[in-house]
Amino acid sequence: MEQILTCHECGRDMVRDVRPHDVVYKDRKVTVQQPGWYCTGCTEAVLNGDDMGVMEAAFVHLKAEVDGILTPDEVARIRKKLGLSQRKAGALLGGGPRSFQKYESGTDWVTKAMANLLRLLDRHPSMIKEL
Ligand SMILES: [Zn+2]
Repeated sequence: MEQILTCHECGRDMVRDVRPHDVVYKDRKVTVQQPGWYCTGCTEAVLNGDDMGVMEAAFVHLKAEVDGILTPDEVARIRKKLGLSQRKAGALLGGGPRSFQKYESGTDWVTKAMANLLRLLDRHPSMIKEL
């Protein structure tokens, strides 16, 4: 069921499309293929929740690289390697019961301190027993 949107700027139809979009963090830029509603008459674009997710995920990965922290995928990989549930990881490593759910879904950042702790545990997983 394809719906039609009307542009609130110029009144023309908006269509689904995928167009390049620059995501910028500090002095770095990546170009994502951004799905969204694009106006056939002007430059207006409307992004729904899933569309926003594409941009946000790209931003999270760029920020992780620039700031030297971990991506959501890396956080999830290390947590699973340590044999911890998201809830247990939050209780043991800090941040609260929902913190890892947020880190791994890209809705919150790991701190540099958490990133470094996870990197150490990634290299030395047996150290989890000492916490
Ligand atoms: Zn328009």
